[in-house]
Amino acid sequence: MTQQPTPDTIRAVAAAISRAEIHDDRMTSDPARLRVWAETCQPHGITDTALACRAVDEHYTRPDADTLRVGTFVGTYRRLRAIDAEADKGSAVAALPAGDPQSGGLPIAAEGEPVWAAYDQHGAIDLPCETCGAGEREACVNLSTKLTRKIPCTSRTAHGYRKARR
Ligand SMILES: [Zn+2]
Repeated sequence: MTQQPTPDTIRAVAAAISRAEIHDDRMTSDPARLRVWAETCQPHGITDTALACRAVDEHYTRPDADTLRVGTFVGTYRRLRAIDAEADKGSAVAALPAGDPQSGGLPIAAEGEPVWAAYDQHGAIDLPCETCGAGEREACVNLSTKLTRKIPCTSRTAHGYRKARR
Protein backbone atom coordinates (compact mmCIF):
# COMPACT_ATOMS: atom_id res chain seq x y z
CA MET A 1 0.00 0.00 0.00
CA THR A 2 1.57 3.29 -1.01
CA GLN A 3 0.57 6.72 0.13
CA GLN A 4 0.27 9.57 -2.31
CA PRO A 5 3.32 11.77 -1.80
CA THR A 6 2.58 15.34 -0.80
CA PRO A 7 4.05 18.24 -2.79
CA ASP A 8 6.47 18.95 0.06
CA THR A 9 7.81 15.42 -0.04
CA ILE A 10 8.10 15.48 -3.83
CA ARG A 11 10.00 18.75 -3.64
CA ALA A 12 12.42 17.47 -0.99
CA VAL A 13 12.98 14.19 -2.81
CA ALA A 14 13.50 15.92 -6.17
CA ALA A 15 16.09 18.17 -4.54
CA ALA A 16 17.83 15.18 -3.00
CA ILE A 17 18.01 13.30 -6.28
CA SER A 18 19.30 16.37 -8.13
CA ARG A 19 21.88 16.75 -5.42
CA ALA A 20 22.91 13.12 -5.77
CA GLU A 21 23.33 13.61 -9.51
CA ILE A 22 26.02 16.18 -8.79
CA HIS A 23 27.90 13.68 -6.65
CA ASP A 24 27.30 10.60 -8.74
CA ASP A 25 27.11 10.07 -12.52
CA ARG A 26 25.10 6.90 -12.00
CA MET A 27 22.25 8.83 -10.37
CA THR A 28 19.57 10.16 -12.69
CA SER A 29 16.46 12.12 -11.83
CA ASP A 30 14.06 10.23 -14.07
CA PRO A 31 10.34 10.30 -13.28
CA ALA A 32 10.21 6.64 -12.24
CA ARG A 33 12.94 7.11 -9.64
CA LEU A 34 11.35 10.28 -8.37
CA ARG A 35 8.00 8.54 -7.95
CA VAL A 36 9.42 5.52 -6.12
CA TRP A 37 11.54 7.67 -3.84
CA ALA A 38 8.66 10.01 -3.05
CA GLU A 39 6.38 7.10 -2.22
CA THR A 40 9.04 5.55 0.02
CA CYS A 41 9.79 8.84 1.76
CA GLN A 42 6.20 9.90 2.29
CA PRO A 43 5.53 7.86 5.46
CA HIS A 44 8.71 9.24 7.04
CA GLY A 45 7.65 12.87 6.81
CA ILE A 46 10.58 13.82 4.61
CA THR A 47 9.64 17.38 3.66
CA ASP A 48 12.71 19.47 4.48
CA THR A 49 14.60 20.23 1.28
CA ALA A 50 17.74 21.53 2.99
CA LEU A 51 17.93 18.53 5.29
CA ALA A 52 17.36 16.18 2.35
CA CYS A 53 20.34 17.73 0.57
CA ARG A 54 22.46 17.42 3.69
CA ALA A 55 21.55 13.74 3.94
CA VAL A 56 22.74 13.24 0.35
CA ASP A 57 25.97 15.14 1.01
CA GLU A 58 26.59 13.12 4.14
CA HIS A 59 26.24 9.89 2.20
CA TYR A 60 28.59 10.95 -0.57
CA THR A 61 31.27 12.29 1.72
CA ARG A 62 31.94 8.77 2.90
CA PRO A 63 35.07 7.45 1.17
CA ASP A 64 33.43 4.22 0.02
CA ALA A 65 30.05 5.72 -0.92
CA ASP A 66 28.07 3.68 -3.41
CA THR A 67 25.11 5.01 -5.36
CA LEU A 68 22.59 6.29 -2.88
CA ARG A 69 19.57 4.08 -2.41
CA VAL A 70 16.32 5.37 -1.06
CA GLY A 71 16.50 3.25 2.09
CA THR A 72 19.91 4.65 2.92
CA PHE A 73 18.65 8.14 2.19
CA VAL A 74 15.67 7.74 4.52
CA GLY A 75 17.92 6.41 7.30
CA THR A 76 20.43 9.24 6.93
CA TYR A 77 17.71 11.89 6.78
CA ARG A 78 16.08 10.58 9.94
CA ARG A 79 19.39 10.40 11.79
CA LEU A 80 20.22 14.02 10.89
CA ARG A 81 16.72 15.13 11.83
CA ALA A 82 17.06 13.47 15.24
CA ILE A 83 20.44 15.13 15.82
CA ASP A 84 18.98 18.52 14.86
CA ALA A 85 16.02 18.05 17.18
CA GLU A 86 18.37 17.21 20.02
CA ALA A 87 20.48 20.30 19.34
CA ASP A 88 17.40 22.53 19.10
CA LYS A 89 16.35 21.61 22.58
CA GLY A 90 19.56 23.19 23.84
CA SER A 91 19.67 24.22 27.45
CA ALA A 92 15.89 24.50 27.59
CA VAL A 93 15.73 20.73 27.31
CA ALA A 94 13.20 18.96 29.45
CA ALA A 95 14.16 15.89 31.36
CA LEU A 96 15.10 12.83 29.41
CA PRO A 97 13.58 9.84 31.13
CA ALA A 98 16.90 8.70 32.63
CA GLY A 99 18.42 12.14 32.87
CA ASP A 100 18.70 14.87 35.41
CA PRO A 101 16.31 17.69 34.56
CA GLN A 102 18.45 20.20 36.43
CA SER A 103 21.41 19.34 34.23
CA GLY A 104 19.57 19.83 30.96
CA GLY A 105 18.59 16.18 30.89
CA LEU A 106 22.15 14.91 30.83
CA PRO A 107 22.51 11.59 32.60
CA ILE A 108 25.25 12.75 34.96
CA ALA A 109 25.51 12.08 38.65
CA ALA A 110 25.30 15.62 39.90
CA GLU A 111 24.92 15.14 43.62
CA GLY A 112 27.83 15.61 45.96
CA GLU A 113 30.28 18.08 47.34
CA PRO A 114 30.02 21.26 45.25
CA VAL A 115 32.81 21.74 42.74
CA TRP A 116 33.23 25.46 43.16
CA ALA A 117 35.12 25.90 39.92
CA ALA A 118 31.98 24.75 38.13
CA TYR A 119 29.94 27.31 40.04
CA ASP A 120 32.41 30.05 39.14
CA GLN A 121 31.80 29.45 35.45
CA HIS A 122 30.10 32.49 33.95
CA GLY A 123 29.69 33.89 37.45
CA ALA A 124 26.83 31.48 38.24
CA ILE A 125 27.78 31.50 41.93
CA ASP A 126 26.96 35.20 42.24
CA LEU A 127 23.40 34.67 41.05
CA PRO A 128 20.46 33.04 42.76
CA CYS A 129 19.32 29.87 41.00
CA GLU A 130 16.02 30.10 39.18
CA THR A 131 15.67 26.33 39.03
CA CYS A 132 16.32 25.08 42.57
CA GLY A 133 16.03 28.33 44.49
CA ALA A 134 19.59 28.36 45.85
CA GLY A 135 20.67 31.84 46.93
CA GLU A 136 23.76 33.78 45.92
CA ARG A 137 26.99 32.05 47.04
CA GLU A 138 25.01 28.88 47.85
CA ALA A 139 25.33 25.53 46.16
CA CYS A 140 22.44 24.27 44.07
CA VAL A 141 20.41 21.42 45.47
CA ASN A 142 18.81 18.44 43.84
CA LEU A 143 15.11 19.16 44.21
CA SER A 144 14.15 15.54 44.67
CA THR A 145 16.80 14.57 47.24
CA LYS A 146 17.67 17.99 48.77
CA LEU A 147 21.36 17.09 48.51
CA THR A 148 23.86 19.62 47.20
CA ARG A 149 24.92 19.35 43.61
CA LYS A 150 28.51 19.12 42.32
CA ILE A 151 27.61 21.43 39.47
CA PRO A 152 25.05 24.22 39.28
CA CYS A 153 21.74 23.79 37.52
CA THR A 154 22.09 24.44 33.81
CA SER A 155 19.81 27.45 33.99
CA ARG A 156 22.00 29.15 36.57
CA THR A 157 25.12 28.90 34.41
CA ALA A 158 23.12 29.99 31.38
CA HIS A 159 21.80 32.94 33.35
CA GLY A 160 25.36 33.96 34.24
CA TYR A 161 26.44 33.57 30.66
CA ARG A 162 23.66 35.81 29.40
CA LYS A 163 24.38 38.37 32.05
CA ALA A 164 28.10 38.45 31.27
CA ARG A 165 27.37 39.03 27.60
CA ARG A 166 25.26 42.10 28.20
ZN1 LIG B 1 20.04 25.40 41.10
